[in-house]
Amino acid sequence: MHVQNLIVGCGFSGATLAHKIATELHEEVLIIDAKPHIAGHCYDDWQDGICVHRYGTHIFHTNLKHVWDFVGRFTQWYPYMHTVKAQIDGQEVPIPFNLNTIHQLFPSTMATLLTEKLISRFGFNVKVPILQLRAAEDKDLAFLADYIYEKVFLNYTLKQWGMKPEELDPVVTGRVPVYVSRDNRYFQDTYQGIPLNGYTAIVEKMLDHPLIKVQLNTSYQDVKNNISCDRLCYTGPIDEFFDYTLGALPYRSLAFDFVRFNRPYFQSGAVINYPNNYNWTRIGEYKYFLNTPSETTIVSYEYPQPFVQGQNDRYYPIVKAENTALYAQYAECATQLKNTFFLGRLGDYQYYDMDKAVARALDVFERIKNETSND
Ligand SMILES: Cc1cc2nc3c(=O)[nH]c(=O)nc-3n(C[C@H](O)[C@H](O)[C@H](O)COP(=O)(O)OP(=O)(O)OC[C@H]3O[C@@H](n4cnc5c(N)ncnc54)[C@H](O)[C@@H]3O)c2cc1C
Repeated sequence: MHVQNLIVGCGFSGATLAHKIATELHEEVLIIDAKPHIAGHCYDDWQDGICVHRYGTHIFHTNLKHVWDFVGRFTQWYPYMHTVKAQIDGQEVPIPFNLNTIHQLFPSTMATLLTEKLISRFGFNVKVPILQLRAAEDKDLAFLADYIYEKVFLNYTLKQWGMKPEELDPVVTGRVPVYVSRDNRYFQDTYQGIPLNGYTAIVEKMLDHPLIKVQLNTSYQDVKNNISCDRLCYTGPIDEFFDYTLGALPYRSLAFDFVRFNRPYFQSGAVINYPNNYNWTRIGEYKYFLNTPSETTIVSYEYPQPFVQGQNDRYYPIVKAENTALYAQYAECATQLKNTFFLGRLGDYQYYDMDKAVARALDVFERIKNETSND
């Protein structure tokens, strides 16, 4: 069998590229996925009228207007600003740790002192990575840093990554900073929302084109000898593509326990983190995202675990210098291949939010288009 374009992976990355190739280059696309569904890790379905994100809670947020506009062609948005709370010392407090969190957890004179010191040391409305706060010399800020480190970061990071915060790349610990602000939102991006009909419906619309054929339950490794193509776009794991010849790229995995309760609400918000108690890191309650009225509710308990090939899914690349170096070697091998493009969270071995995955796919498409017009 021969196709013009073979795209491996039906997630946001593969679907964005398939849509652009079909609609703008007017070329045929065969898009395959090993899973029995489209939309990759953004896959959701509906239960009791509630849209449930099957790979964990997903909130669309971006500062990239072109990405917001592009994805907005396939959905109406429910305006939603995400907030997260954490169970700390028996209270539910806003996360990222901010000035409201301080005022909720400490006596008011102490909270006022800490607030003043934080603002005079770092300024107002700034995000300070925890490891930077820990370097502060002032004894009150050092106390605060140790408190936040112990109560918010240490055990959560141990559960999430199986290692201490300082063993991780600062890119990862910087992702959840201390926020010197009264803003309880988890993200500050200009554009935030939840698709009214879910993420799967977005991908369905992206792929709804006469030139696009979708084949599920199909792993690239099983069909690669039977399909030839003019162009290959690969959003699966780059190390798997090269048969792990240089070694396997490490990942962290997750397990989800979905539970349905016969009551209108289970918890006080969409996501509650449990840094210090239990084995799970967080519980997501899905009806909050679209404010769905219903007599029942569905939650997911999230349990981090090591990634074991063949047993569970790759979720997060483990960002460490040696892993980045190994990825760079695979990326170098990729440059030797003609008409082959790697992208997506697995192809690039990168943590991408949805907007970044879409932005990367749009960039790859521009490269493809330029190469096509130069032929
Ligand atoms: C727990 C969690 C929460 C998240 N929350 C958010 C959030 O709130 N907001 C946000 O913006 N982003 C969030 N993300 C990130 C988001 O999931 C990714 O940005 C997005 O899934 C990336 O899309 P992708 O197409 O690159 O990868 P994927 O969605 O993983 O798609 C890749 C596809 O390729 C398929 N595939 C792989 N190998 C092969 C093969 N050999 N043959 C055939 N098919 C193959 C896979 O089955 C998969 O369907 C979250 C991620 C996680 C893990």
